[in-house]
Amino acid sequence: MRRFLSIVLSLVLVFTLVTGCSPAKETGMDGGIFNPGTYEGTGEGLYGEIVAVVEVSADEILSIEFKEHKETEDIANPAFEKLPIEIVENQTIAVDTIAGCTISSQGILDAVKDALIKAGATEADITKEPSKKQVSTETIKKNADVIIIGTGGAGMSAGAEVVNAGGTVILIDKMSSIGGNTIVAASAMNAANPELQKQQTMGSSSLQVIKDLIDLEPKNEIMKRWQDEIKADIEKYEADKSTYLYDSPALHKLQTYADGDYVGNPELIDIYGDNALGSIKWITELGAKFEETITSAIGATWQRSHVPTKDLGSAGASFVLPQQKVIEDKGGEILVEYKAEEIMMEDGVAVGVRGETQEGTPFEFIADKGVIIATGGFSANPEMREKYNKHWANASAEVPTTNPASSTGDGLVMAEKIGANLVGMEWLQMVTFSQSAITAAIDNSIQVNQSGLRFVKEDGRRDEICQAILEQEGSYMYRIYDAHTIVDLLDGISYKGVPIDDYVGDGAYKADTLEELANELDIDYATLQKTVDDFNISVEKQSDEFGRMMFDQKLDTGPFYAVKYIPQFHHTMGGIEINEKTQVIDISGNVIPRLYAAGEVTGGIHGSNRLGGNAITDIITFGRIAGQNVMK
Ligand code: ADP
Repeated sequence: MRRFLSIVLSLVLVFTLVTGCSPAKETGMDGGIFNPGTYEGTGEGLYGEIVAVVEVSADEILSIEFKEHKETEDIANPAFEKLPIEIVENQTIAVDTIAGCTISSQGILDAVKDALIKAGATEADITKEPSKKQVSTETIKKNADVIIIGTGGAGMSAGAEVVNAGGTVILIDKMSSIGGNTIVAASAMNAANPELQKQQTMGSSSLQVIKDLIDLEPKNEIMKRWQDEIKADIEKYEADKSTYLYDSPALHKLQTYADGDYVGNPELIDIYGDNALGSIKWITELGAKFEETITSAIGATWQRSHVPTKDLGSAGASFVLPQQKVIEDKGGEILVEYKAEEIMMEDGVAVGVRGETQEGTPFEFIADKGVIIATGGFSANPEMREKYNKHWANASAEVPTTNPASSTGDGLVMAEKIGANLVGMEWLQMVTFSQSAITAAIDNSIQVNQSGLRFVKEDGRRDEICQAILEQEGSYMYRIYDAHTIVDLLDGISYKGVPIDDYVGDGAYKADTLEELANELDIDYATLQKTVDDFNISVEKQSDEFGRMMFDQKLDTGPFYAVKYIPQFHHTMGGIEINEKTQVIDISGNVIPRLYAAGEVTGGIHGSNRLGGNAITDIITFGRIAGQNVMK
C-alpha cells in the first residue's frame, strides 16, 4: 500500500542511462523477439511526453524506467509504479490501465510499446493477453471502530480525527491512489482571516458590496444575526476611517448563503463559517503550508482564499497528505482498490460496508462505532448529471468535467438505497477550466472573448461567468494575465505543481507584448489593446462597467499570457442530507443511526452555487466533525 502512496517519488525521474543505443536489429537475432539492449520510446501523457527506457534480452522485457515527465505526481504515481511491474511480469503491454490515471497510463504503455518496436518486436509479439490471475473468492473480513468510504479531503479529515480520538479506522478507496477529486482539483481554501487580511486594502466598490449585503431582506433569524454583526463591524470600520480588507465569519456565511440563492441550510452554514479558520489552522498544524497573501479563487467573490505552497507537490496534496500521515502514524489502515457497493444495515443501524476489490475479491468491513460516507460528487457521471440537471442546457457526456473518473456519485446511490434523503440534487456547478492549469487570483487578470472584449465581471459567481461564456461565440474565453499575476502570485508554478511555462503551447500562450499575444490568439490587436487600456483605467478608478470589485495591478507588464477556458462540470452542490453532527437524515427526517456523511457527497451547504474556494473548507470542516462525532 505505502508503495503506491509514496510521495517520495520525484516528479522528475531522471535516470542516467546509456542512450538508446543498441545496434540495429538483424531480424530474429538468435530466433528471439528483440535485439538485446536498452531502448527509449515516447508516449503522450496528460501533460506532455513520457519517455520510457526499456531494457530487453533476446526474448524478454527485463526492466522499464522513465525519464522526465510532467504528469502530476500524486495522481500518476500508481501508473508509473504498477505498469512496469505488470508488463515485465506478463511480458505484454496489453495490461489494464490504472484507474484514476488512464491518460498517463496510456502514455506509459505507448512509450513502452514504442521502445519495444524499436527493439525489433512486432505488435503481435508484445500484445498477447496476460495470463489470468487467480482471484480469491473468499470474503475479506475486517473490523474497526469506524469504516470510511473515500480518501478525498473529507474522508481523510474524518480518519485523522478518528485516530486522534483514539479510535481504529479503515479507509477504503475504489481508485488505485488516494485523494479523489481533492488532490486533483483543489487549489484554495476560504476562511475569514482578519489578521492577514488587514494587511491588504479594500476598495470602495467592495465596501458597497458589504453594504448591499447588509441591506438584503433577511430570510430568517440566522441571516439577520449575520447581517447585524457585519453592520456593527462596518459602522466601526467607517468611523475609524479604515481602509483594510474587511472580513469576518459572518460575512463569509452571508455570502455563502446569498450567493447560493438561499438554497443552503443556514444552520450548517453557521457551523461552516465558525469553523473555517479553525480548519485552516488544523491542517496547518498537520503540515500544510499556505502562502501569506490572501487571494480570491475564481468565483470566490471575496479575497479570503488561502493558497497552499507547493511544498507537498500540487495544491490539492496539502489537503490530503497531512491527514494521511496522521492516520498511518496512529495505526489507521488505508486500502486502495476497494470499492464499496453497499452500506450494511442491521435493524435500521449502519453496521459496515460491503464491496469488492479491483481484482474481484469480496470484502465485508464491520464498523463498531459507525460508517462515514465521503465518496465525493457526481460530476464525472453523465447519466446522473442528466438525471438531476435542471438548469444547464446540456449536461450530457459531451460536456467535459474537471473531476477525475472517481466522481461518479456512488455514495449517493448507496445512501439512497437505505433510505437517506438527498437534497439540492439539481444544482450542478460549471466552472471555467483549462487543461493548462494556469490559474491565479483574478485580481490581476481579465477575461475576453474571441473579439478581444470583456463580457462579464471576472470576480462574479461561477454560474454567471459560465453562462456568459456559453453565450459568446464558440462558447470559450481567454483569460489574460501579465507578469504581475504569474510571478507575484504563483512563483511561476501552477497549482498542479507544474512550471507555468511548461504549459505554453498546450492551451496557453505567452508573448512579450500584447500585440504578439493578440496575433497568436487571432484577436484584433487594436480591440484587445483598447480593452486592456480601459481595464487599466478601471484599476485606477477601482470600478468598471461590469461591477467588478477586485482590482490590483494594471495589465501592463510583459510577458503576457493567455489561457483558453471552457465551462466544465466541476462540483455537485446537492447530496445526502446531514444534520449539524453530520449524521445522515432519512426521507422521514430521522437520523440513520451510526451513519455519517461529509464532503461533496452531502448537500445543504452551498445551495445553488458554490463559491470558489468554499469546497475545501467544507470537506475539511465537516470531515473533522464526522470523525469527532462518530467517536462520541
Ligand atoms: P471530497 O472532496 O468530498 O473529499 P473526493 O472526490 O475528493 O471527495 O474524494 C472522494 C473519494 O471517494 C475518491 O477518492 C473516490 O475514489 C472515492 N470513492 C467514490 N466512490 C467510492 C466507492 N464506491 N468505494 C470506495 N471509494 C469510493
